[in-house]
Amino acid sequence: MKNDIERILLSKEEIDAKVAELGRQISRDYADKNLLLVGVLKGSVVFMSDLLRQITVPAAIDFMSVSSYGAGTQSSGVVKIIKDLDIPLENYDLLIVEDILDSGLTLHYIMEMMQSRNPRSIRLCTLLNKPERRRAPVTVDYEGFQIPDEFVVGYGLDYAEKYRNLPYIGILKPEIYSK
Ligand code: 5GP
Ligand code: MG
Ligand code: MG
Repeated sequence: MKNDIERILLSKEEIDAKVAELGRQISRDYADKNLLLVGVLKGSVVFMSDLLRQITVPAAIDFMSVSSYGAGTQSSGVVKIIKDLDIPLENYDLLIVEDILDSGLTLHYIMEMMQSRNPRSIRLCTLLNKPERRRAPVTVDYEGFQIPDEFVVGYGLDYAEKYRNLPYIGILKPEIYSK
């Protein structure tokens, strides 16, 4: 698996330090709130579980799973809910936890849908952000790293369901895609 990686973009140490910092910020900001972390499956699972343990105020968690309609690997912005949240949102301050913000089409859709369920507040925390790729307006409240427009894997992010268990974030060798 390691041999498929061309270059490490973010080391485990860099990620750990950033996640700890985000946890401190969120703990400060949500001290008097009723925090519900909402993870978008499956990419956010690793980030979510690390972030959660860096948060020192009470925090509920829930997950949703979506798939984006449309051809190819580009998201279309039309989103199908595969697994919805289990918890009603009215009394919660929602923090959506994402692995990576790319075109923003998926998240834009999810945020609008969540808003219509009237949570007390709604914010977004993304580990990675590719600002050059944005096609839909999405406000990022907490951000780990801005990265260039390259396809990354590891720390929850997959290529064809592989590489999620790498402890760092890296760029795949080009020959992996052409297989
Ligand atoms: P978008 O913001 O375009 O609607 O979709 C974002 C989703 O596309 C992410 O949650 C992730 O699943 C996938 N994605 C976007 N960029 C990358 C990347 O560089 N690597 C991986 N593994 N997935 C990505
Ligand atoms: Mg995601
Ligand atoms: Mg994926």
